[in-house]
Amino acid sequence: MLYTSTRNKNIKVSAAKAIAQGISEEGGLFVPCEIPQFSLDKINSMVEMDYITRAKTVLKEYLTDFTEDELDYCVNGAYAASKFSSAKIAPVVNVNGNENILELWHGPTCAFKDMALQLLPYLMTVSAKKTADGKTIVILVATSGDTGKAALEGFKDVENTKILVFYPVNGVSPMQKLQMTTQEGNNVAVCAINGNFDDAQSSVKSIFTNDEIKAELAKKNMMFSSANSINWGRLVPQIVYYFSAYADLIQQGRIALGDEINAVVPTGNFGNILAGYYAKKMGLPIKKLVCASNSNNILTDFLKSGEYDKNRQFYTTTSPSMDILISSNLERLLYHMSGEDDKLVVNLMNSLNDCGRYVITEELMLTIQQIFDAGFCDEASVSNTIHKYEKELNYLCDTHTAVAVQVYENYVAETGDDIPTVIDSTASPYKFSKSVLCAVNGSDDCALDEFETVDELNKVTGVEVPAPLKALKDKQVRFTDVCDKENMSEMVFKLLEL
Ligand SMILES: *Cc1c(COP(=O)(O)O)cnc(C)c1O
Repeated sequence: MLYTSTRNKNIKVSAAKAIAQGISEEGGLFVPCEIPQFSLDKINSMVEMDYITRAKTVLKEYLTDFTEDELDYCVNGAYAASKFSSAKIAPVVNVNGNENILELWHGPTCAFKDMALQLLPYLMTVSAKKTADGKTIVILVATSGDTGKAALEGFKDVENTKILVFYPVNGVSPMQKLQMTTQEGNNVAVCAINGNFDDAQSSVKSIFTNDEIKAELAKKNMMFSSANSINWGRLVPQIVYYFSAYADLIQQGRIALGDEINAVVPTGNFGNILAGYYAKKMGLPIKKLVCASNSNNILTDFLKSGEYDKNRQFYTTTSPSMDILISSNLERLLYHMSGEDDKLVVNLMNSLNDCGRYVITEELMLTIQQIFDAGFCDEASVSNTIHKYEKELNYLCDTHTAVAVQVYENYVAETGDDIPTVIDSTASPYKFSKSVLCAVNGSDDCALDEFETVDELNKVTGVEVPAPLKALKDKQVRFTDVCDKENMSEMVFKLLEL
């Protein structure tokens, strides 16, 4: 299996190279040259497997340059039962009729990013051994909150790696901030930037492709890589849980083999939902992928109209991990759905870069709409949904999941399409305790500090507080740097002591 770039089809690299490098030289994203096919029999065989074996079954099709032993080492290390608060790793919980929640937040940092970022450091170190001849890999991360912590936790003290994380100074929840600024480990650094996530992400991307900076690094035997979902190694682990959820639905007797399901995904950078697209392309019977956005509804507009326009108001919402106007992984979708038209992708991305917008043809739009639907949810509905779900169904969901739940309900009301559905739940409600508690209580604000809020939410709902969040209370803050987005590259040099 080889990988090519969305912006230059002549490039062909191995999985190890794609993962170690992160992003293609000319700024394109690595994509598989072909998509492996799973028969219904093969999917059926996954029903009796545990998560680790399901993961290996999917990964070995994509990482054909990894040996069996290497794959075993990676999946056994990443999905060890001791790191997850559920033996199923990613359990499917039926809440109401055909409505099922896929809980992706039982990992060490309580967000779905762990599903990929527990595995990525293993994939990266194996890949680096194969391709990067002893270089230290410097992981540069732009985060809207959850990726940063999950990447720090995944890469801390991993040999031959260093990790630097940039987060928007006012764009993350207090719990997310505390998770990052108290991070332990000898190869980690964290810095806030004055700007939003898109600022952080574009600066990181331009640092990656800056030849001068790369040359400086090379002198010290270092190279950059990415832990954002632009890295194929971040995306491929996410395909697994769509298969796993389907297998669990069969096991629970909710569907029969071959039945179609819908998947609803709270979306930011378009990584999670794109993994669902790959699963569908591999043969998993997914009918529709429903893209759920918060008030930053650029993807809703795009998927309805074919026009992507980031020249609009940016909102800071209670679901910060989805406060994004440039969804990087859309580039991969455009590549696949346009019949692998790399020239088109280059034109669209140049247009996005130069004028902040692009328009696709109606033909391409209709092709995309056969698979994708979209909707968004404003702040008042997020709060109402959390309240209603808790009171009526006795299920406590976080702000991001609430966006998906509400978009799902709107989708069913509009289309009547109520086949069995998986709604991705992407974070523990305790990562966003204040918003969730206010929603449950139907109040506007509460005067409690972060940990009092956690305790109160626990008292009101009886839902257990994840141990890693409880433990933060006694941790020391280690990182307090703040920089302007223009100065990020200097900060990188400073943090790397170059
Ligand atoms: C990252 C994140 C999302 C968005 O996922 P994408 O793959 O970027 O679309 C949604 N919810 C939570 C809690 C997240 O951390």
